[in-house]
Amino acid sequence: MTTPLEEIIKEQIRCDGPMRLDDYMRLCLGHPEHGYYMTRDPFGQAGDFTTAPEISQLFGEMIGVWVADTWMKMGQPDPFILLECGPGRGTLMADLMRATKRVAGLHEAVQIMLLETSPVLKQKQAQALDPYAPVWIETLAPERFTAPVIVIGNEFLDALPIRQYRFDGAQCTEKYIVLNNNDTLQFKWIESKPNQIVKNLLTQKSVKSMGHIEVSDDQYSVLMTLSKIIQKQCGNTLFIDYGSVHYPVDETLQALKNHQRRSVLELPGECDITSHVGFGLVKDWLEEGGMAVHGPVSQGIFLKRLGIDVRAQQLQQNASEAQALDLSLALQRLTGQGDARKEMGSLFKVIAFGDNPDIKLAGFHDSDY
Ligand code: SAH
Repeated sequence: MTTPLEEIIKEQIRCDGPMRLDDYMRLCLGHPEHGYYMTRDPFGQAGDFTTAPEISQLFGEMIGVWVADTWMKMGQPDPFILLECGPGRGTLMADLMRATKRVAGLHEAVQIMLLETSPVLKQKQAQALDPYAPVWIETLAPERFTAPVIVIGNEFLDALPIRQYRFDGAQCTEKYIVLNNNDTLQFKWIESKPNQIVKNLLTQKSVKSMGHIEVSDDQYSVLMTLSKIIQKQCGNTLFIDYGSVHYPVDETLQALKNHQRRSVLELPGECDITSHVGFGLVKDWLEEGGMAVHGPVSQGIFLKRLGIDVRAQQLQQNASEAQALDLSLALQRLTGQGDARKEMGSLFKVIAFGDNPDIKLAGFHDSDY
């Protein structure tokens, strides 16, 4: 079986030669007509994957606690911009707003901004967030930020395209997509001149000895743009995603359809393609960019420090038996440190960064328990 996007990709390779992995991923996820996110709502049981805000309201409520606490520590700026990167169905923001409605002055001061490229998901977000009059942006244009900012993003960084390299001490090769003799898509490692981001990495001993490098120019560019916006306007950012605190990481690129693993080259535009975020690398980039960085810490610990257990107990007191059980299961799924296929607590990490090193952000310190 083939897809319309597969034909477009093949034609492009016939005309222009081998395609870089990140260009392939960008087309698969973001092609205006056939890109994965552009054509569907991928979440939930009937979709391809389930995210934390879709598991339980507890998640968005805890992010609400973090946003309210951060806003207060920033001196309650009015107005302030609350930007969500890749808001999906808008569930996280809706739960967060509900959880913060009693925080004096916050709703009066907030301007919600959503970074989103998918027309289908923009429509869902508009439905979920109608009372709050959000504005949408498709790229991080710094001139749109005219007030202090708080930025959040769950499973956003993992959706940004990556490049993969191999380094054997002398030669650096990069993974491309080519057409083989049977006219099917195939990976090929091609000699490459590493860009500055990779050159910097290759000076690290651990990376040299590993031989395999995964790196996202797009993540770098988003993080550096956010750092500049924050340096100019003041602010703090919170990103949650799956990945390792260590760097380098091994091959982590994966494709999912109907909750099942697929090959990355199978059914272009029909599968979600993601990679694990290299949090160690993200932290280095941010520190080099002059940001005060908090974490990464595991999602389970972060949510517990923000009080998720107490909130779950509170909700259970007024719940039916079935609802109480659902809450316990959701809590376990969000915070449990067991099998990463079932429990998100340790696979998922949380990192935050801001301009002011004196602000102690909630969730990153033992004393928050
Ligand atoms: N945060 C949501 C959705 C995560 S899926 C949740 O936790 O449920 C990734 C989200 O990022 C989707 O909304 C997708 O459309 C958006 N997205 C992916 N690539 C993007 C890009 N390059 N620019 C803006 N949004 C993007």
